[in-house]
This record gives sequence, C-alpha cells and structure tokens, in this order.
Amino acid sequence: MATGFVAHVIDGELVESVRGNRFESVDPWTRAPWTEVALGDRTDVDRAVRAARAAADQGPWPRMGHTERGRLLHRLADLIVANGDLLARTDTTDMGRPVTSTVGRDVPRAAANFRFFADHARLTPAEALPSDHGHHAYTRYEPAGVVAAIAPWNLPLMLSSWKIAPALAWGNTVVLKPAEQSPASATLLARLALEAGIPPGVLNVVHGPGADGVGQALTEHPGIDRITFTGESATGRAVSTAAARHHVPVSLELGGKNAALVFADADLDVAVRTAAAAAFGNAGQMCLSGSRIYVERPVHGEFVERLHAAGRAMTAGDPGDPATEIGPLASAAHHRKVTDHLTRARADGCRVYGGDGSGWLVRPTVLTDVPRHAPVQTREVFGPVATVTPFDHEEDAVRLANDTPFGLSATVCTTDLSRAHRVAARLRAGTVWVNCFFVRDLRAPFGGVGASGVGREGGLFSRDFFTEPKTVVIDIAGC
Ligand code: NDP
Repeated sequence: MATGFVAHVIDGELVESVRGNRFESVDPWTRAPWTEVALGDRTDVDRAVRAARAAADQGPWPRMGHTERGRLLHRLADLIVANGDLLARTDTTDMGRPVTSTVGRDVPRAAANFRFFADHARLTPAEALPSDHGHHAYTRYEPAGVVAAIAPWNLPLMLSSWKIAPALAWGNTVVLKPAEQSPASATLLARLALEAGIPPGVLNVVHGPGADGVGQALTEHPGIDRITFTGESATGRAVSTAAARHHVPVSLELGGKNAALVFADADLDVAVRTAAAAAFGNAGQMCLSGSRIYVERPVHGEFVERLHAAGRAMTAGDPGDPATEIGPLASAAHHRKVTDHLTRARADGCRVYGGDGSGWLVRPTVLTDVPRHAPVQTREVFGPVATVTPFDHEEDAVRLANDTPFGLSATVCTTDLSRAHRVAARLRAGTVWVNCFFVRDLRAPFGGVGASGVGREGGLFSRDFFTEPKTVVIDIAGC
C-alpha cells in the first residue's frame, strides 16, 4: 500500500470528487505540497451519507452481532499494526508530528482503540429488570445509525480511530471528515477497513474544508443520526447549532487551557518532566496541553529554570528524524498564530525564555511575569508555550486553575496524598492527572467541562452516545 493521491472513500470505492476538484496537502517541514487530495462538497457528502445510510438500513454490519464485528475490527487493528510505518510516516509528513510519536504512540493507540471497543461492546452486559408485577424488562442497545465523525489535524490517525472505533463497534456506519491539513491517513485507514472485510459503505471518508464546505454539509445533512466532533470551541458551537436543527445528539471534544499545579512538596524531577511533556509534547498542539503552570512560590524560580532547561534539551527539527522531539507547527497560518501570541506576550511585559526557531518551528517557550488577562494566559495558543505563575497557598492554586471558561484537564504535582485528592476534587476539569500526564484508560470517561466540550466518550459513555437504548417489556404472567 502507498499513500498516492488521497481519494474520498465512498461505498467501498476510492473516488474523485463529483466535480473533479482537488487540493494540495502541505508538508510542514519542507513547506511544500506533498500530495493531492480530493476536494469534496455537498454532493460528495450526500453520496457518502447515502452509502452509510444504505449500509446501516440494509447492510449486514448492524445485524452481524458483536462477535463477528469484533473479529473484523481486530483484523483492522492487525492491519494498522502491519501498515504502521506507512500510517505513521503519512501523519508525520502531513502535519509534522515527530515520527517517534506517530510510530511509538499513535499507531499502537489506533490499533488499541479498535481492539478495546470491539471487546468492550462484546463483553458489556445489558440490564435485565425482573419486575414484581408479572413482567420482565430488559434493555437493548441498538446502533444509532449513521455517525458523522469530524476530526482535527493535531493527532490525525489517533483521533480518527478514537471516534470511529466505538461507533463501528456498536454497529453504526460512519462518514469521517478529517481536517484539511492532515487528510491522508484517513483514506489509508478506510482502505485497511475494506481489506479487513468491513463491508462497503460502513466507513466512508470525505475530504474538504469544514466551514462552508464538507464539514458544514455533513453536520447539516438530514441523514445523520449522531455527530462526534473534535476541534476548537468556536467550531463546536457551529456544529451544535447545525445538529440542533435535526435534533441530532452531539459529542463535542473541544479546546483547553489546562492548568498544571506544582506544590512546593512535589518531587521537582517528576514535576519538571511531567510539565515539559504536557506543555511541549507535539509542539504544544494538544487539546490536553498543560499550558498554564502555577508553581508554589518557594520553588517557582527553580522550577522556571529547570523547565526552560528541559525545553532547551528537547531536539527540535525534521519530524522524520527519529531523534526529533519537537517538529514544526502544522501550517503557515498556525505558525503565524503562535508567533503572534509571543509578540503580543512580549508587548504585554512577559519575560520570554526560548521561542526561537526557523521555518514553522517554534522551540519550547517559557513565559513568566504574565498578566492575568493577557491573551497568552487566557486563550488556547496550541503551541509549545507555557506560562509559569507563582501562587501562595492551596486555595490560591485552585482558584487560579479554575479561572478559565475551559475545563478539559489538569495536572497536580504533589507528594501529599491528602492534598492530591482534595485538589483533584475541586478542579473544574474532565480529567485530573496527579504526578503524571496523558495516561489514558479507555474505560474512563473522556471529555471536558464548559468551553471544553459537551458529553463524554470512552467505555460505557461511548456506548451510551453511539446507541439508542430500547426497553423491551414482556408479560410473563400470561394474563
Ligand atoms: P477546528 O475546529 O478548526 O477544526 C476541527 C474540524 O472541524 C476540522 O475537520 C475542520 O475542517 C472542521 N470544521 C471547521 N469548521 C466546521 C464547521 N462549521 N462545521 C463542521 N466542521 C467544521 O479545530 P482544529 O482542526 O484547528 O483542531 C485544533 C482544536 O481541536 C484545538 O482547539 C484543540 O484543543 C481541539 N482538540 C480537542 C480535543 C479534545 O479531545 N477535547 C483533542 C484534540 C484537539 P477543516 O480543518 O478542514 O476546515
């Protein structure tokens, strides 16, 4: 298998757009186009939704049962691993994520997503409710139907699989719209699904822009039963509005401005390692990025020095080189957004450590003396940029951490067990990590509070979103 021209995948076929339009995907390291991609519009979306509808209403997929579906999803996972190098290098070329991460993390995690949700769907019991009144009730979790999955560019394969795997495992069919900046691995994934024996029409992919394009057309299409969306909070609002017109349930995984709290009792080696991974990993292009760091005053100075040193020690450069830890930012527009934030931060009086880089590279950057309402402190920068602010006591730390409309994740570094529980309980966030970062259990709920999202996915939360529970009541008294 090779990447080649990146086609739509509709009803089991690799197809051009009806109008024959294409666009170029740019490699952020060379800053030159590297492949052509089908440029879809409403007509292509309509074809894909019709194919998914037919596969949902008449095809074998929703009816084949968890064991057989699970077997095919495990085959897809096997094929992901077997084609891991191609999938990984495709994402690396498309959006600049270092190949060590795409090979070492994203491919195994994509395979794990399919394996986990296949097994979870097969093993999860449904409720049986024996009643006192001569009736027996039970619940059937039936596929919702056609799922629109809209993915962002920052972790293309991993996030697409996170949306598609539970949808398919629970018997739905899917139309996936990947982000324009990183479309190529989605087509490879859909080709592997066909090779695994997943029937045509079950997993469709349509490429093209979001606003005023494929994404919008998909969310407005009357043939959709669920929308699972990952992206910016502002886009999430547009998606909710479109979904509301057809009463379609949405799951929104949105942006973050996540706090990391470092208490003076923390093991500073652990705290610096955790904070550097959270702030600079994937060049900060992570919804979960720990970009607002609050450090208890006695250790603030030492922490800033050590975090800056940790950032400087990270190898930045060609994402295709296995030594690289920080790749370029994903696009020219995004590079401009991040560097504009740094320019503004300097004008706002922040002290800036790091932040240099050529091309679309921005090296890890630490900011201190950051005014509370500075944009770099309140908005999602989505670059390798961390603000570090001192606090004086636990109450202060919790207040500062919660001082944001976002609420996706938070990190707490402390060796005081009681404090860890106490603070975790008070943080307004969907996930709190204590002395660690990015540790995921696929059974656990994942999602955000406030501007960071609506709903949860993972484990039973995914089942509840991707199915329609039906109650069946049977008269067993014979009257
Ligand atoms: P965007 O919101 O810009 O785009 C996300 C997806 O939505 C893309 O496929 C985009 O298409 C599409 N889209 C854009 N406008 C519309 C619309 N009106 N209707 C339907 N679809 C639309 O986010 P980014 O791609 O820039 O991704 C980064 C964001 O994602 C950050 O805010 C990050 O925090 C968030 N994110 C959240 C995660 C979470 O789990 N909470 C995980 C990862 C990222 P196109 O790009 O082709 O225009």
